[in-house]
Amino acid sequence: MTVKGNFNPWQTQQQFPCRQCGAVLKYAPGTTHLQCAHCGTENLIELRRSSIEEYDLKQALQTLSENRAAPSSPSIHCDECGAGFQFEAKNHAGECPFCGTPIVTSTAQIKPIQPKSLLPFSIDEAKARQQFQKWINRLWFAPNAVKKYARSDTKLTGVYLPFWTFDSQTSSSYSGERGDVYYVQEQVQVVRNNRLVTETRQVPKVRWTPVSGQVQRFFDDVLVGASNSLPRKILDTLQPWDLHALIPYDENYLSGFRSEYYQVELADGFDVARQVMDNQIYRDICHAIGGDHQRIHNVNTRHSGTTYKHCLLPVWSAAFRYQDQSYRFVINGRTGKVQGERPYSIWKITFAVMIALAFGGGGYYYLKQSGALENVQIQQWPLNAAQPYRYGPSGSF
Ligand SMILES: [Zn+2]
Ligand SMILES: [Zn+2]
Repeated sequence: MTVKGNFNPWQTQQQFPCRQCGAVLKYAPGTTHLQCAHCGTENLIELRRSSIEEYDLKQALQTLSENRAAPSSPSIHCDECGAGFQFEAKNHAGECPFCGTPIVTSTAQIKPIQPKSLLPFSIDEAKARQQFQKWINRLWFAPNAVKKYARSDTKLTGVYLPFWTFDSQTSSSYSGERGDVYYVQEQVQVVRNNRLVTETRQVPKVRWTPVSGQVQRFFDDVLVGASNSLPRKILDTLQPWDLHALIPYDENYLSGFRSEYYQVELADGFDVARQVMDNQIYRDICHAIGGDHQRIHNVNTRHSGTTYKHCLLPVWSAAFRYQDQSYRFVINGRTGKVQGERPYSIWKITFAVMIALAFGGGGYYYLKQSGALENVQIQQWPLNAAQPYRYGPSGSF
């Protein structure tokens, strides 16, 4: 059963009617209202005055392991056209496939953890497309056909993607070695003017001394993408996000957009976060050891007061096909930053290599500046491929 109107936690499905004419509304990016496409009325979204909370990770993992309910995909009933359907896997907000009406459903039936905060879209589709066009026009070596494609009106999809954030107080004890460089004078025999002579040289050596100690660091909001629709590499490069601007979760902001529920479980998300933290801790230890070289033999990290949040962040995304390959790109729905796959024009690269050969080092510089040398290895992203997130255990609570 569906009821139009205000939020009710028991209700699993929502549409947002215009207070003037009753037409179904969509959230207008960059504003705090839903815009009526029918009569133009702006319907203000009431501000929810709750604070963004952190939740205890240990407790959540325990609860999750005790309640392993089988997930169900709720069937949805469209109030506008009467159609019954299910959203495409992973989505809990989107459009009715029959009449295009925006519908938002709760994730409560599907996932044990609900999003508690979000960043609303601040740039709209037109602005996102502009950003994409700028990006592709700046790309060197992109085939002209692609640039032309980008200028046409590519349909962008606005999606709220699920993320985990983790806070943790860490304390790491380590053992290793500190290496200090010193020089010794060595006598060497060399041939000079056909004569064997003895010369003195300064030869660098490293003196290793065993060290051990402790480093501490508090991590705040380590962000981990919880969607499998995009490769982690792309999710990571969409940063930074203005997480300080998170607002309490509110379905109104989802109306007219897609929204995914998480596919990376909380424990797996924390594994990824721990890897990010471990890299920083490793650098901290090297700094603490000091000297000219460092060797780390053993690190034992304890996490305490670890908390998490589950939030939704906005991206515009699209894919285009070019010569039987699909390329995807995404745009940060807050900043307009573009990340994506790109095709290369073999002709343009061949031409550039010829210039490079003709002009020597300058040509190399040209290739390097263009980014062609770094980016050529970028591989085709597998569409919807599940990525392995497992890392070995590196610490304990
Ligand atoms: Zn209206
Ligand atoms: Zn419908």
